[in-house]
Amino acid sequence: MNKKILTAAQAGWIGCHVCGLTIPKQAVDLRSCPRCQAAMHSRKPKSLSRTWALLLTAVILYIPANVYPVMTVIKMGRGEPDTILSGVKHLIESGMWPLALLVFVASIVVPVMKIGVLSYLVLSVQRRSKWRALDRTMLYRLLEAFGHWSMVDIFLVSILIALVDFGSIATIKPGIGASFFAAVVVLTLLAAHSFDPRLIWDVMDEE
Ligand SMILES: [Zn+2]
Repeated sequence: MNKKILTAAQAGWIGCHVCGLTIPKQAVDLRSCPRCQAAMHSRKPKSLSRTWALLLTAVILYIPANVYPVMTVIKMGRGEPDTILSGVKHLIESGMWPLALLVFVASIVVPVMKIGVLSYLVLSVQRRSKWRALDRTMLYRLLEAFGHWSMVDIFLVSILIALVDFGSIATIKPGIGASFFAAVVVLTLLAAHSFDPRLIWDVMDEE
């Protein structure tokens, strides 16, 4: 905080998100990059409201993702549909606790933390917080790095279906909950992508 850093935005310059070209704002027609023709803006447009909209939709869809069954395992013509949590319970009961842990982390811990952390980051920018900007930026980087792990779940269901179909002792049918869950995963990825971490630092430079 002791050194004042001049940002491109303050200097009236604008950088291209795609090819990295940085030029004075007046030199652009404010529509596209003169080099690669990508749309140019100094910050992601409507970053906060877009992130909120995506987060809110993710929260809403996360409810049916947990309430509705993600899959049904049918053995000898019988089978009960499993939600994420009942699936975890079944896995523990069958002694497959490493798999149970993986499913629990990927479908409960990661999405909930992701939604929570991102909401906090957006709120902190809206409240013009100047508290620990570096840590908040690190948090965002962690979020981007680990966010993709929630994809593991959808992957797992598809592998299970393929594996069981080979064996033909049992069949697995994907449930509607899996579609809701996939939507939540995509929405949180998009929400994280919509957030512009530079906004954290824009507030820091205000006085
Ligand atoms: Zn460009």
